[in-house]
Amino acid sequence: MTLDLSDTIIIDNHAHSLLKDFLQLDTLGFRRSFSESRSLSLISEHVNCALHYQNMLRELKEIVDFETEDELIEHRQKMSQSEYTKRLWDDSSIGAALIDDGFAPYSMLSLSELDHACGRPVFRIVRIEPILEALILSCKSLAEAEKKLESELIRPLTHRIVGMKTIAAYRGGFPIDLNVERRSAESSFSELKRSTANTTSLRISACPAYHHLLLCAIDIAAANDLPVQIHTGIGDGDLDLHTANPSLLSPLFKSKRFSTCKFVLLHCFPYVREASYLCSVFANVYMDLSLSISLASSIAPQLFREALSMAPATKILAGTDGHSVPETHWYAAITTKKALSVVLSQYLAEGYIDLAEGNQAAESILFRNCRQLYNLEGLV
Ligand SMILES: [Zn+2]
Repeated sequence: MTLDLSDTIIIDNHAHSLLKDFLQLDTLGFRRSFSESRSLSLISEHVNCALHYQNMLRELKEIVDFETEDELIEHRQKMSQSEYTKRLWDDSSIGAALIDDGFAPYSMLSLSELDHACGRPVFRIVRIEPILEALILSCKSLAEAEKKLESELIRPLTHRIVGMKTIAAYRGGFPIDLNVERRSAESSFSELKRSTANTTSLRISACPAYHHLLLCAIDIAAANDLPVQIHTGIGDGDLDLHTANPSLLSPLFKSKRFSTCKFVLLHCFPYVREASYLCSVFANVYMDLSLSISLASSIAPQLFREALSMAPATKILAGTDGHSVPETHWYAAITTKKALSVVLSQYLAEGYIDLAEGNQAAESILFRNCRQLYNLEGLV
């Protein structure tokens, strides 16, 4: 017996918006959404030979009329944004998406524009780092930044905030220093002020002021019952992979101070087993595979086997990390469902689980956990 999940709804706990002109991209612009590389030569000469990219094109031919990559680019340019996005997201049964709107905000559709394009509920995840950067630039002292932090993080805009997210893994990496002394946070803040005296931009990186304010933001998230997503593993062109290992976060999860905060480890590749272990021992830690599923789609079933190796199914969430073009959300969603179906069907065939347990695990991962964790009940 096979578990068919192709029509099961998926609530995407980790995604981004679409580029304003996402249908007008040329071939390289389109390929770029399926690679973590910033190298133009890699994108022009190699991405088309990556198995995940070839598989994505093959799957896409089932619902879009094209033969070659060039024909696809031409076909997309004639479509309406809304018609094209709905066709893909309907095909993958994406029912709602939690959007981090802090990624390249000026080149992306706003949440309201995305709502219109995709025709389904969209919720907001607040990216912490750009807010810390703006506060450091605008405030005269650490105390002033601390005072304004909550109102800046939870600023009511057009869409309901359902969580926060940190990209600390890509800003100096883990661990996050839990023992920053006030004096060193203040002097680090002053140093940041000095170094940005003649500029209006700041790219924050591991330092006492950053980690102090980040921990304050996590306190605020916990007090407002907002889960905090933490990028781990792959996910940014300039990360040092070994400093993005989620096991380096153990002190954070063991800390009494943050015991009421719920954390969601994002991506996790290649540290999926580490993440699975963390989810199995800390009640407040969850995980998704998101970007790993699309960029390593040839081993997607293996990634789910590893995630499920120790983590209860109630600790794993579906995510796409889709961004820029709707094909990324669609491809990660269909691949997630296929991989989960392969794994659970195999366990079912072996008698390792029964049908009810298989269905329950699939529903938990695809939509129930997300609905519960982010308090979406009644909304989707
Ligand atoms: Zn991501």
